[in-house]
Amino acid sequence: MQDQLQLYSMVPILRAAEQSSQTGKPAAIGAFNVNFYSQAMGILEGLRRADAPGIIQASRGANKFQGGPEKVQSMVLQAMKDSDHSLPVALHLDHGDEEQAKICTDKGFSSVMIDASTLEFEDNIQLTQNIVKYAHAKGLSVEGEYGKLAGVEEDVIHDTTTYADPYLVPYFFNESNADALAVAYGTSHGPNKGSSGGLEKLAIHVVDLSYKGMVAYGQNQDHFLVSHGSSTVPKDIVDEINAQGGNVQGAAGIPMHKIQEAVVAGIRKINIDTDLRLGITATFRKWFNNNPGIETTSTDVLAPIKKVLDEKLDAIDPRDYLKVIDIELLRNDPAGSVLEEVMSLVQERIASHVESLVNKFGCAGLAGKVECISLNEMAKIYAS
Ligand SMILES: [Zn+2]
Repeated sequence: MQDQLQLYSMVPILRAAEQSSQTGKPAAIGAFNVNFYSQAMGILEGLRRADAPGIIQASRGANKFQGGPEKVQSMVLQAMKDSDHSLPVALHLDHGDEEQAKICTDKGFSSVMIDASTLEFEDNIQLTQNIVKYAHAKGLSVEGEYGKLAGVEEDVIHDTTTYADPYLVPYFFNESNADALAVAYGTSHGPNKGSSGGLEKLAIHVVDLSYKGMVAYGQNQDHFLVSHGSSTVPKDIVDEINAQGGNVQGAAGIPMHKIQEAVVAGIRKINIDTDLRLGITATFRKWFNNNPGIETTSTDVLAPIKKVLDEKLDAIDPRDYLKVIDIELLRNDPAGSVLEEVMSLVQERIASHVESLVNKFGCAGLAGKVECISLNEMAKIYAS
């Protein structure tokens, strides 16, 4: 019998997408960033509506925001428990460094990323391999990164794209033993992906040639390509933020047809962060506008949030305006708190966006196709 609260390695989850792709239905798994409880609840609800397996991921910033990876882990497990979530889910560290990757391995995550992409190629492989040895011993999956994405993601900042060399991708997998690899092919982090979503920079052939090399080496059942910086940045959400008093300019994402093209070419995991941030921000602004003066009823919680939104018109990261209140309100079920109403709206908004995205990524209906291998079993497979 499966433990309902078990977290899985990304490997069996991504393999379900690979097998679907091989049988005529290209698919990638959605990986959604989480910062607080209602966001986790919304992601899980969206996955259930689509009967999709999923990946919930926390960045170093999210771990810091919540007071440590163990807090994030217990928050996600609590959300799974509260919503009777029984579909396969991985909890993954996004853009980890060596220290965070090891800490998250020890603190109950089921997958970690080591982003050593700023190092020279062979040094990148070496550090990735070190984390692989550490994490595989406990059955966790490991994602590396090769090439550099333009844009800003917390402290990961690059002005320009450095594309991965697709002919070296099989070598990277072979030498590092990483399970997944984020290849830079022209997507970028953050809400400003350039005019027409930075289309002129997108190089789908990097994905295509990487995947073909992996197939040639027989790697594609156990190793998978990841797309970072893949939010679509829906114009209607940006317009809504601006109509509700915000001022977010120049926002553009990756068009959905290009994401689907990348899935056809071999991407199996798609990272989504910015889209959720935008939806949360639009919901908060609209709620305050629909409830004028409500911040005076609970000055210690609502007033500081509203103050930040009033002063920082270009805010899109919910942590910017939620960090001003007691973090406990964001880690537990906010029922009974003054945030309950807005958080239920946030949850529904995330759920419908996640449902829509995973349908487009092709992974709806794949939950039952995931072979539920425990982390202990994965550790034995790696050791054999
Ligand atoms: Zn990224």
